[in-house]
Amino acid sequence: MSAITVADGLPSAAQLVTRTYARLLLTGFALIPAYLIAYLFFFQDPTLKFENHTFHEIAIAVATLEGVFVTYVTWRCYESSGEPLLRWMTLGFLGFVLIYALHGVFTGFAHQNIWLFLLYGPASRFVMSMLLLIGLLSYHRPSDNADWRGSPRPWLRWVGFFLLADLAVAYVANSPIAGALPTRLSMEGGALVFSALNVTMLLLRRIRSPLMVIFAISVTSFALSSLAFILGRPWNHMWWLAHAIFASGFFLLSYGVVQAFLTTRSFSTIYSQEELMAKLSEEMARTENAVQELKRANQTLAHLAATDPLTGAANRRQFIEHIETEISRVKRGGAAFSLLSVDLDNFKSINDHYGHRVGDDILKGFVQKSLDAIRPYDDFARVGGEEFMVLLPQAALAGAHATAERLRAAIASASFESGAHRLSAVTISIGVSEFGRDGDTIDAILRVADERMYIAKHQGRNRVVAA
Ligand code: GH3
Ligand code: MG
Ligand code: MG
Repeated sequence: MSAITVADGLPSAAQLVTRTYARLLLTGFALIPAYLIAYLFFFQDPTLKFENHTFHEIAIAVATLEGVFVTYVTWRCYESSGEPLLRWMTLGFLGFVLIYALHGVFTGFAHQNIWLFLLYGPASRFVMSMLLLIGLLSYHRPSDNADWRGSPRPWLRWVGFFLLADLAVAYVANSPIAGALPTRLSMEGGALVFSALNVTMLLLRRIRSPLMVIFAISVTSFALSSLAFILGRPWNHMWWLAHAIFASGFFLLSYGVVQAFLTTRSFSTIYSQEELMAKLSEEMARTENAVQELKRANQTLAHLAATDPLTGAANRRQFIEHIETEISRVKRGGAAFSLLSVDLDNFKSINDHYGHRVGDDILKGFVQKSLDAIRPYDDFARVGGEEFMVLLPQAALAGAHATAERLRAAIASASFESGAHRLSAVTISIGVSEFGRDGDTIDAILRVADERMYIAKHQGRNRVVAA
């Protein structure tokens, strides 16, 4: 029985409402930066400034260090899962770190060349948002193969590309077009468009895995931070807010990366709680089935190990176990038991005359007829080729003798069929022994029963010897 119940099947009204509510909450949460932007936009004096270079430098140094760490963790995840999305995320973070760091480095230049200071910000966001968008486009693509993942070449090529971007920004910052509005706007606007596209695609493709929800909220933050940067002026509150919004998106995304690192090292195979519960109960049902099957297989194996495949009678091993049980019962004060040693007479000549196949059929028929002749709780076993033993619980020698005689008579008067053959002269010789009277070990009573069976043979076969 599965102890887990999963809210699946047809969605009930309550389920639909709660699910919708959860989605609204997530959307509302993702849009928190938008409320802050609107608040500043409508209620703050845009000329109010907080120009503190040291604070800015420390903030960017911390962001850079964190960026390095997140890049490393993302790369480790990629190395282990080979997920293309993680490759692009690693590159996105790496590009961001290598370009954004210069934004901090050039803080002091804010008054000599404001563009050298400013342009690295939008450039870093532009590059990162573009790479994250490419990453989303590769969502659920097959994993990169392991050789490819380990190779440093492609990474170095990208590092080279990012450093070139650094040089390009420096070049633009020192050129006459630096001050032109389209320069800054094209990069910040590009970052905004890429991030907005990213969110739109996530929504359209209905990607809802938990880490991708985190990804979606983070990218929404990146889009809104670019919006705030566009609305802000250097050092004013909208500009600082833009930094904060970007940082919160970055923190959240790094949280997602850490979750991936601590679990499957992949972004797409993290399941929602609902999915996990469904999988868990499915697995439990499967395990339960496997256990049942195993039990059945065990029973079959135990049966096979205890019986003779030709006749279905118990085998020697099983028979000895039963005698042991019977002996301990007698030792606890139970009544004596007896054994019959049964051997088919001249069986070799039946084989020689009619063939082995007929001999087999006779053996099977013999077992069936014997079981009919004895009591249900008497134990019947095949202990050799045409040699059988019977355990008669709570039967002393005289009673056992009578049972043996009944068995002998039943076989002697029976006719056996095999294909077109009908045999009616099959006989058996039987030796009888009683536990206690004829010995008190298994070996002793088995030996005595066998000896008496051989005496029966010598006396002419088709008879019982009990003393
Ligand atoms: P006796 O009356 O002295 O017991 O003579 P016998 O021929 O029965 O005894 P013997 O031990 O010489 O031969 C036993 C024969 O039983 C020989 C063997 O081929 C046959 N036999 C043993 N197991 C099987 C079996 O599984 N199938 C068949 N068809 N024959 C078997
Ligand atoms: Mg025989
Ligand atoms: Mg024999």
